[in-house]
Amino acid sequence: GTSQTTQRGPKRDVLVGGLLVPGFDEQSCASRYQAAYYHKNMTRPASPYLIKRLREQEALQLRCGPGTEPYTRASERLKSGQTTNDTDDVDGCSYLVLISYRGLGNRMLAMASVFLYALLTNRVLLVDTGYGNTLADLFCEPFPGTTWALPHYFPVENFKELGEDAPESYGNVFVNRSGSVTGLRFVYLHLDHAASPANRLVYCDDHREFLHRAQWAIIRTDQYMAPGLFFNPAYQEELSRLFPKKDSVFYTLSRYLLHPTNDIWGMVTRYYNSYLRNADERLGIQIRVFDNSDKPFQQVLDQILACTSQEHLLPGVVSTSGVAPALPTAGASKSMAVLVTGLSSWYHDNIREMYWKSATIDGEVVSLYQPSHEEHQLWFHSKHDMKALAEIYLLSLTDKIVTSGWSTFGYVGQGIGGHTPWILFRPMNYSEPAPDPPCTKAMSMEPCSHGAPGFECTRKDISTNLDTGVLLPHVRPCEDMSWGLKLT
Ligand code: GDP
Repeated sequence: GTSQTTQRGPKRDVLVGGLLVPGFDEQSCASRYQAAYYHKNMTRPASPYLIKRLREQEALQLRCGPGTEPYTRASERLKSGQTTNDTDDVDGCSYLVLISYRGLGNRMLAMASVFLYALLTNRVLLVDTGYGNTLADLFCEPFPGTTWALPHYFPVENFKELGEDAPESYGNVFVNRSGSVTGLRFVYLHLDHAASPANRLVYCDDHREFLHRAQWAIIRTDQYMAPGLFFNPAYQEELSRLFPKKDSVFYTLSRYLLHPTNDIWGMVTRYYNSYLRNADERLGIQIRVFDNSDKPFQQVLDQILACTSQEHLLPGVVSTSGVAPALPTAGASKSMAVLVTGLSSWYHDNIREMYWKSATIDGEVVSLYQPSHEEHQLWFHSKHDMKALAEIYLLSLTDKIVTSGWSTFGYVGQGIGGHTPWILFRPMNYSEPAPDPPCTKAMSMEPCSHGAPGFECTRKDISTNLDTGVLLPHVRPCEDMSWGLKLT
């Protein structure tokens, strides 16, 4: 490497080993090329084959995306209901439209993994801009010279209301139409975490099936699709070439695809520079309580402290009653910045008070910071989502991270950061004593998929629910959810 330095310190590889392309306007999306100055160097560099396929996908998005003649022709056909099949698709452009719904963590898992699905199936990815058009408030364009935003005018009326009973749903086409897409304008892929087994057969679709004959596919998922795609024999070889190490799929794809807008990046960098940068060590604690009452629970605080103590993540405190505090010894004691995220401020306040009232055993200085406490979850509310996204990125910039089981918000923070987290087991009843053990070190940095297939692609027997967590060496049951699957 070079020893060149800039004002911001040592020079960084802003293109992240070729993962990113040069040439984007730096002013309109500063995070794209600045992120490398904040993140640690990638522990899993992108494979040359992934980089090649990303460039091909960018070319496809540019050639077929909104505003091009192929796009106009394709949307005309969608509008007119003219049945499509691959022989009359002269432009070689087919599309995958992602419906945005649920919380930000869910949406980010969906975006990254549906992008992978688009790459595997050679489709153009278009993302529904969400209620209130919030996509552009949150994320920059990932592909040069084109847009990934679904144009405002889209010929399928009420497509956001599509559900698994729709005649166009994959399950219905498979079961009731024996795979015939004749007369259908599009195929609808319903991969909500609670989707029926028939709809989950999408995971096993390959080129002998019907899906490739539909020029338009509309997908609804709140899930991380990637683990499920590894079950499909048609994709296994390609996935191994794309990801020689399977434990970093989200890490790599999120660094490629998801770049927060300038307003959010400003929030991230200002907060980081003010409170986190100068600490000797940074710990993130992501607190997510799945309880509609929004009230704090002593049991959750007990669980967090039991975890951080057991895993030696936070220093212990000693009773200082009557003890004379030591002289200020400038620079001698180690400092730790603890970034807490959560909807409530109660947990942060309590831990901070603990380190105010008592001294740490080894004199370490512990500071607590929580950027926001929004109290309630809101959906498709830009100001709220922007704070949430800034906090997800701040979590990614810590050195170690404790996350809450079942929370996609935590999965995304750990995944972008490349952190293997300590996961707090989710209490099923927050009023009962905290789970024991309180937490566990995860197997990998990958997110958990809550809706993976429960059948083998070679047999497609959807009548039985198989333990798919034992079929492949790199796909294992999640630490925090026994029926969830994650890449390791
Ligand atoms: P999940 O429900 O934990 O899987 O995560 P999601 O991100 O999908 O949905 C939770 C939503 O609640 C987020 O998108 C935020 O809007 C909000 N939320 C939850 N935790 C936090 C937090 O720590 N900080 C902020 N700002 N918002 C949060």
